Amino acid sequence: ETNYVDAVKPVFERFPNKTAFAYMGVEITFAELDLYSNRFANMLLDSGLKKGDVVGINLPNIPEYAVAWLGTLKAGCVVSGVSPLMASDGMKYQLENSNAKALVTLDAIFAARVTEIAPYLPDLKLVVAGSVGGFLPAVKRTLGKLLKKIPSGKVTQLPGKKVLKFSQVIQGEQFDSKQPAVDLSPDDIAYIQYTGGTTGLPKGAMLSHRNAVSDLLITQKWLSWEQGKGLALSGFPFFHIAGLFFCENCVYLGWTQILIPNPRDTKHICKEIEKYKPTALVNVPSLFQMLLAEPAFKALDFSNLEVCISAAAPFPEESQKELEAVVGRGKLLEVYGMTETSPLSAMNPAKGRKKLGSVGLPLLNTEVRLVDTSTGEEVEQGQPGEICVKGPQVMVGYYNKPEETAKAIDSDGFMHTGDVGIMDEHGYISIVDRTKDMLIVSGYKVFSVKVEEVLATHPGVDMIAITGKPNPERPGSELVRAYVTLNPDYAKTKNKEAIKKGIMDLAKDKLAPYEAPKEIIIMDEIPLTTVGKIDKKELRKL
Ligand code: ATP
Ligand code: MG
Repeated sequence: ETNYVDAVKPVFERFPNKTAFAYMGVEITFAELDLYSNRFANMLLDSGLKKGDVVGINLPNIPEYAVAWLGTLKAGCVVSGVSPLMASDGMKYQLENSNAKALVTLDAIFAARVTEIAPYLPDLKLVVAGSVGGFLPAVKRTLGKLLKKIPSGKVTQLPGKKVLKFSQVIQGEQFDSKQPAVDLSPDDIAYIQYTGGTTGLPKGAMLSHRNAVSDLLITQKWLSWEQGKGLALSGFPFFHIAGLFFCENCVYLGWTQILIPNPRDTKHICKEIEKYKPTALVNVPSLFQMLLAEPAFKALDFSNLEVCISAAAPFPEESQKELEAVVGRGKLLEVYGMTETSPLSAMNPAKGRKKLGSVGLPLLNTEVRLVDTSTGEEVEQGQPGEICVKGPQVMVGYYNKPEETAKAIDSDGFMHTGDVGIMDEHGYISIVDRTKDMLIVSGYKVFSVKVEEVLATHPGVDMIAITGKPNPERPGSELVRAYVTLNPDYAKTKNKEAIKKGIMDLAKDKLAPYEAPKEIIIMDEIPLTTVGKIDKKELRKL
């Protein structure tokens, strides 16, 4: 029965001098985070924003993101993360869709985009632009490396909108340093959090302070994480629910977060792991797989590491075993969740029996039902059904989309996830597929994840994605298609045709005839979404 802002307040008193964020050698303490976010909150209110107004945050994972995020919540406003990898169309869609009143962005890289879309956003009244190389010179260094050359350009004047510089806000000459008094109840909305956009246009999930706080308590009970004791490195961007959730937890726990400019830069990540020896590593499966392909990763000392969390997409069992062999047995925890369940639904227990290849048990105060979508009835134990989740973490609804909300949350309060799962006799859940990724082949259901699991065990396969394409000879039926990237060492020993044949043979041996791919396409790279999930939407277009 509290809000996120009050829930984290004691941390700033307990750990003022502890580093909250370390980014490329620049550190900010919890006291600084508290102070800067107070000024940010006062800036919003002084600029005319009211409780409940939406603030879009269009920044990479830099400490300023955290200042803007916490500042927005302290003002009683609503945070909406806007992916910095999104093109101007996507950005416009999201800001328009959420009726954002303010936008926090970076000069240089984003200036052109913001200037282009601003005239089409009548609700947008305020733009706060951080200047690269201003407050944190490290941003210039790292983004410079990432982009080769930082485009010049500043957000200066936008007709009808107020423009402020981020440095003006945090330097404290203009805005009060005391936390503003804002009346926040657990039911106030804290986020309009956009879904990953893996299956279509992202939808804005309204998450309340109650949703956020319930997640803190769930994690606390489940993992017994100790306050002040952790050092975390996560590859998830803050604009994505997994990154946001982890950041919320780390701040609540008084943990230091090591921020990574580019989660696909495996060499840099290895250096940061070596330097900081994190106690917690969090990532999306494809990025763990990229790390596993980096020889330096396998040579690191993981004795400090307590937990390795994989979330947000299916993780082939074979790669999970490989990861555990590197970081230590029993350290890997697979988490299942989604934006709409802010995000936690199920997790393997930290203590007690873990089941590899399963996303574990429903979390505290969380009910999970597997339902037959055609009858709406619960399926028999061991049978696949759509996962439906009820608990304090389930979103309030989709913003401005009452019909979508009514389709997603039923009258008993269960969120219909669009994921198919199986529950074993001990309650452990395995994700079988997304309903949208399931294939129908000659009337049979084919679960893409199952086919991927089996074929990923072939030594020549690095990454694999199964999709369907319409079968021109049988309307309503699909052909199974496999996209693979090859393990470079193995590819030196055999030619591509031989590898394809090997995969086909494995499929014949281990899968039903209708599950076996009819076509295998070898790729240099499998397209990933902005958070690093395999982008099947993109693959289907090929
Ligand atoms: P959109 O809803 O816009 O299509 P999205 O579903 O990818 O995008 P998110 O909320 O980021 O958006 O992701 C939630 C989904 O990710 C889940 O519904 C599920 O399909 C998948 N997922 C999350 N965790 C796991 C996991 N451990 N194993 C398998 N799939 C997972
Ligand atoms: Mg989804």
